[in-house]
Amino acid sequence: MLKKREVKKVITKVEGIIVNETPYGDSSKIIQLFTRKYGIIGVMCKGVKSMKSPIRALTIKFTYGSFYLYYKEDKLSILKDVDVLCEFKTIKSDILLISYLNYITELTTQVYKQSNDFILYDYYIAGIKKIETGLNPLVITNILELKYLPYLGVGLELDACILCGNKTNIVTLDADDGGFICKNCYTQQILVSPKTVKLVRMYYYVEIDSISELKISEEVVKEINFFINRYYERYTGLFLNSKKFLNKMLDL
Ligand SMILES: [Zn+2]
Repeated sequence: MLKKREVKKVITKVEGIIVNETPYGDSSKIIQLFTRKYGIIGVMCKGVKSMKSPIRALTIKFTYGSFYLYYKEDKLSILKDVDVLCEFKTIKSDILLISYLNYITELTTQVYKQSNDFILYDYYIAGIKKIETGLNPLVITNILELKYLPYLGVGLELDACILCGNKTNIVTLDADDGGFICKNCYTQQILVSPKTVKLVRMYYYVEIDSISELKISEEVVKEINFFINRYYERYTGLFLNSKKFLNKMLDL
């Protein structure tokens, strides 16, 4: 057995993004780092609030990069250094995009708390990278929201009428009923555009990384967003302040 002083500390390099930060004492802070490798972990950043710290500006919320740390399972890891991978300059220079980023981040961390699934990291990073490149942030947000539903235990039935199981003649979708509605079951639900029905499926299955452009009419974007908002309110139990704020900015 090794004596304590002989245990070698090994620095691990891990890709991640800071999703939260809390001050610790006068000069340090603890960050919540979302990583592909370990999920969300707490990391002690010693002395980083000091003016002399070379990583002072890199230990703030939304820094995305390679983090060099002493990883400790079930304990606070310790940060040694950071290399920034992307600064998200476009997002950070636009108050509306920052609101999207805040919401997507809060949502992702909440979904992670319920599912503990590291794959959420890939969805989240792919989504914010696409927003950074200028793709419609509402569409990207809706895609993430749809993809997160199964991780919240309330996945959508995408291939059949929610009321009778019929796989054909889908005419609309309704959040209160909880999914697609076929011709036979249709009563007084709002009729959405056929494109909306089709795109909800597409949103769910699309590889976010592979999206290069989005040509979706305003009407369809709105219908899908309306449906997802309502579905979240009704089935997920998540009521996030960042969402409220975003909706206020969007005049919803
Ligand atoms: Zn039906």
